[in-house]
Amino acid sequence: MVQFKAVRKSYGAYPVLADLSFEVSPGEKLALIGPSGSGKTTILRILMTLEEIQAGAILVGGMPLWNSEIASFGARRREAHLHAARRSIGMVFQQFNLFPHMSVLRNVALAPILTQGVSPAAARDLAMQLLEKVGMAGKANSLPAELSGGQKQRAAIARALALKPEVMLFDEVTSALDPELVEEVLNVMRTLATETDMTMLLVTHEMSFARDFADRVLFLDGGRIVEEGPPRRIFRNPQEERTKAFLRKIVAAGLSL
Ligand code: ADP
Ligand code: MG
Repeated sequence: MVQFKAVRKSYGAYPVLADLSFEVSPGEKLALIGPSGSGKTTILRILMTLEEIQAGAILVGGMPLWNSEIASFGARRREAHLHAARRSIGMVFQQFNLFPHMSVLRNVALAPILTQGVSPAAARDLAMQLLEKVGMAGKANSLPAELSGGQKQRAAIARALALKPEVMLFDEVTSALDPELVEEVLNVMRTLATETDMTMLLVTHEMSFARDFADRVLFLDGGRIVEEGPPRRIFRNPQEERTKAFLRKIVAAGLSL
């Protein structure tokens, strides 16, 4: 469903991803872990077509999202291509970026109306269904400012789901939340992971969640994959020194394994 082939990404002269290659199977739940600055967010932003790459190729659902030919397109043709390519991908960010002046319902219903030509009535129905799914139906008419952080994040998940993505990206969606609000968001994600066949890429510092959620874990450091495997193996029996050191730090910081 997702293929990175020798992807190179730098900001100016500073290399962030160095010939990074990996694949994610349809329906697979992949957790990306690694120290701050290791390139996790960059990987998700590239998939969301928010960042360009300098070399390599990316395929989503077997279709090229990025390759050298697309890189050589003129600006308009390239933007049209990227616009079409990102339709199959949804992303939830660390900072819930809901539109502050719109109700929760409108936040969720808007994109299908604007980008998929869904009728306002059908978009409202879909939005209500999704808000029910994330336990937010009772807040449909509230403004984002009236919500807790956990509620905002659940609304942001519903909004991403409204475009019916085949691939969902989650970037540290609980790390800006007060501790008592983390669990309600993780519960929604757990339900999505078990009840849908969406492909999911998750960046998290919640190692116990990654262990339960993920089919496979990639441990990144310095824009490279240091180690990958099933979560139980990576967490219980890491092979690489850098993985061991990272997991020791996580435990020392009080985050559970
Ligand atoms: P992570 O999410 O694993 O913490 P990031 O993907 O955010 O890592 O960042 C990887 C590296 O790229 C870091 O060294 C970061 O400072 C750098 N970086 C990220 N975004 C930018 C940017 N817009 N401009 C310059 N450097 C950036
Ligand atoms: Mg990040």
